[in-house]
Amino acid sequence: MSDYSLETKCVQGGYQPGNGEPRQIPIVQSTTFKYETSEAMGKLFDLEAEGYFYTRLQNPTNDTVAKKICELEGGTAAMLTSSGQAASFYAVFNIASCGDHIVSSSSIYGGTYNLFAVTMKRMGIEFTFVSPDCTEEELNAAFRPNTKAVFGETIANPALTVLDIEKFAKAAHSHGVPLIVDNTFATPVNCRPFEWGADIVTHSTTKYMDGHAAGVGGCIVDSGKFDWTRYPDKYPGLCTPDDSYHGVTYTERFGIEGAYITKATAQLMRDFGSIQSPQNAFLLNLGLESLHVRMKRHCENGMAVAKFLEGHEKVTYVNYCGLENDKYHALAEKYLPNGSCGVVSFGVKGGRKAAETFMKHLKLGAIETHVADARTCCLHPASATHRQMNDAELEACGVKPDLIRYSCGLENAQDLIDDLAQALDQI
Ligand SMILES: *Cc1c(COP(=O)(O)O)cnc(C)c1O
Repeated sequence: MSDYSLETKCVQGGYQPGNGEPRQIPIVQSTTFKYETSEAMGKLFDLEAEGYFYTRLQNPTNDTVAKKICELEGGTAAMLTSSGQAASFYAVFNIASCGDHIVSSSSIYGGTYNLFAVTMKRMGIEFTFVSPDCTEEELNAAFRPNTKAVFGETIANPALTVLDIEKFAKAAHSHGVPLIVDNTFATPVNCRPFEWGADIVTHSTTKYMDGHAAGVGGCIVDSGKFDWTRYPDKYPGLCTPDDSYHGVTYTERFGIEGAYITKATAQLMRDFGSIQSPQNAFLLNLGLESLHVRMKRHCENGMAVAKFLEGHEKVTYVNYCGLENDKYHALAEKYLPNGSCGVVSFGVKGGRKAAETFMKHLKLGAIETHVADARTCCLHPASATHRQMNDAELEACGVKPDLIRYSCGLENAQDLIDDLAQALDQI
């Protein structure tokens, strides 16, 4: 598929059936797989032969869909996970353990922040959070001898900041560590972080990739470009024998193109089992078939709504990198020339109270803890996800009391604008 355009890969990537085989990807709804001899199965357990034996580790339907996402991102290997959270955890834990350190952008998804700052900290991994807007000097100062990776989001949820991928990749590489980028909001349709120096990409496929709010899922893709063997002391898990697999050394057996994903599958999927169900992988693939068509529409609606809000007297600010005077417009022009996403955030005059009134009167935009699906939805963090915080606490964590996150679906743009206008009139 590598010769084809991104649009064609969305539709036909990952799976090319042979003569008489099903046109749609088969759902292999089986926990286990049969073998003729114990010897044949033993080879799988020693990673000497390729094949399936138990769906807690790998399943053919999932691998077909992972292959499509791998082609879309331009990587060498990929795996699906049960959620975006599992993808973020595996991506980091695969190369860091107790006593290690990670540098992360502070502008990341709240769930990821909690995973890093609270849960993984309890596992003995320390994180230093840096502003995505930091200078190269500030970024370089965050590294320590035990730093194992750098993490950031292409377009951050919900702050909508745009990551300067080249700046972060340069700093990571000069310290001999990979850059991991969560590309959920941009999707490979609008940005392919590997082209800018990122080494590993993660996704919450729950968002635009699925696109219909049908299934929670995640994905990890390896660019195959980071040479772990240059730093064997730093990445012993990849560069020295794994006793739990009869002494296989992942970089030797699978090369730098396959070592990272094979290790994550063989160890982390085996031990934690955060596998996506094959049914969900099938649904995810249905979403991927139209991803390129949908992203275009999400972006058109995002732009139309952002422009309308920007000109409205009751709106105090709008965050949308497609707008010319947005703080991240220059970065968006570089990394997201075809559009960013459908998520817009804004504030209304009158603060928290006015935001609540406005939300109550929306008819098309439903109040949901979700973004990035076909139906427009919105959330007022101060009265939902962050409701236990007072105004000062909200400001401190970067969520203004009047901030509304509005995720444009695939409806008619004028209908969305009319709905916004009538709800703003109620304030
Ligand atoms: C939603 C989200 C996640 C977490 O994904 P889940 O599928 O909900 O586990 C991670 N990163 C970003 C950017 C997200 O929007």
